[in-house]
Amino acid sequence: MNYYSTNHQSPAATLQEAVVRGLAPDKGLYMPEHIHPLPPEFYEQIDRMTLPDIACRVADAFFGDDIPQDTLHELVRDTMSFDIPLVPVTDRIHSLELFHGPTLAFKDVGARFMARLLGYFIRREGAGEVNVLVATSGDTGSAVANGFLGVEGIRVYVLYPKGKVSEIQEKQFTTLGRNITAIEVDGTFDDCQALVKDAFMDADLNAHMRLTSANSINVARFLPQSFYYFHAYAQLKRAGRADGGVVVCVPSGNFGNITAGLFAARMGLPVSRFIAANNRNDIFYQYLRTGVYSPRPSIATIANAMDVGAPSNFARILALYDGSHEAISADISGATYTDEQIADTVRTTWQQHRYLLDPHGACGYRALQEGLRPGETGVFLETAHPAKFKDTVERIIGQPVDIPAKLQAFMQGTKQSVPMPKDFPAFKAYLMGQ
Ligand SMILES: *Cc1c(COP(=O)(O)O)cnc(C)c1O
Repeated sequence: MNYYSTNHQSPAATLQEAVVRGLAPDKGLYMPEHIHPLPPEFYEQIDRMTLPDIACRVADAFFGDDIPQDTLHELVRDTMSFDIPLVPVTDRIHSLELFHGPTLAFKDVGARFMARLLGYFIRREGAGEVNVLVATSGDTGSAVANGFLGVEGIRVYVLYPKGKVSEIQEKQFTTLGRNITAIEVDGTFDDCQALVKDAFMDADLNAHMRLTSANSINVARFLPQSFYYFHAYAQLKRAGRADGGVVVCVPSGNFGNITAGLFAARMGLPVSRFIAANNRNDIFYQYLRTGVYSPRPSIATIANAMDVGAPSNFARILALYDGSHEAISADISGATYTDEQIADTVRTTWQQHRYLLDPHGACGYRALQEGLRPGETGVFLETAHPAKFKDTVERIIGQPVDIPAKLQAFMQGTKQSVPMPKDFPAFKAYLMGQ
């Protein structure tokens, strides 16, 4: 299947081109040319299928023309090697726990799939080494680094701002070694991003080494996120809760996660509507209200992975709905919460239901609590483990939060990083020496 650019100025790309490029040459986002609905039999038996089986079936619909089936299924099974349970918080509201992967956040799914797919393309071509550059303010770096860890033919450079990520986050990408190098930039996240951009533009560097990016707009990171929407529905159906209208609520920042859910619905997944939950960065919420999309600089909140002022996947949502505000509003409603409301939700949900939300999931839970209509059942995506935001969550509930063994293991590793000034010539000289 081919992929078109949302800006319509670049020619259609193959899957491999779209994955290696990330962004289309016209700066648009790649979209699959077709979305194939899955047959009624699939939905009839979905409650008897495992997550890897469901994921393989969905992957066939997207990637089946481009990758031999046994290879694709191996990639998918290897990606989805952890559980994604649906846990009831109340009678009507369920948490889809996406934090059981290696870095305890949903980005593991996309990052692991992309790493394996890129590895496959490189092996198939026999085309030497590829170097992935990724700038991170915290969570993306860990998911990408762990996703690519040990994948043959790929070297990863994670650029992060010195002193500006939490210790847990830093340990998740500085202790890995092997094909992962952490570059500790004496600057801000924006400086890291500027270094990566400059590297992609630099002719000498590109002649010296093959560079690619692993940012979240890559089709290989965003499409696999649809797998777990089907799995959520399967679990609801198994529990006898899938009738009467299923509402899926997604804590949203760049809107990649919810867009994957909208794709699932286009494939026939019986979701009656979606809610996009924002923190105070409520650009999408305002778009729903006014019909006008006006990006603005992001503001810092306690749900910091959603601090996005110009959601990059908005272009994909517009493309999916032919730009119709009316159609978008019919399928998706919005919510927006202040830090106080988020903290209040974490606290009361812990007190009343003994369920510990992270600040992002709290936006999702609260939007369902306020927005479910009679008869409907709600699922929110719990996008990260609360221990990833230990300080914030402990402050809110006033008691210590257990650190899962997986996170503790990272804490015991030894940090290794390459110190780097924020000016491009130094970074270039470093890469030229690799
Ligand atoms: C990245 C992230 C989000 C936002 O997801 P988008 O796909 O960018 O909308 C929400 N919660 C957590 C914990 C994240 O890491």
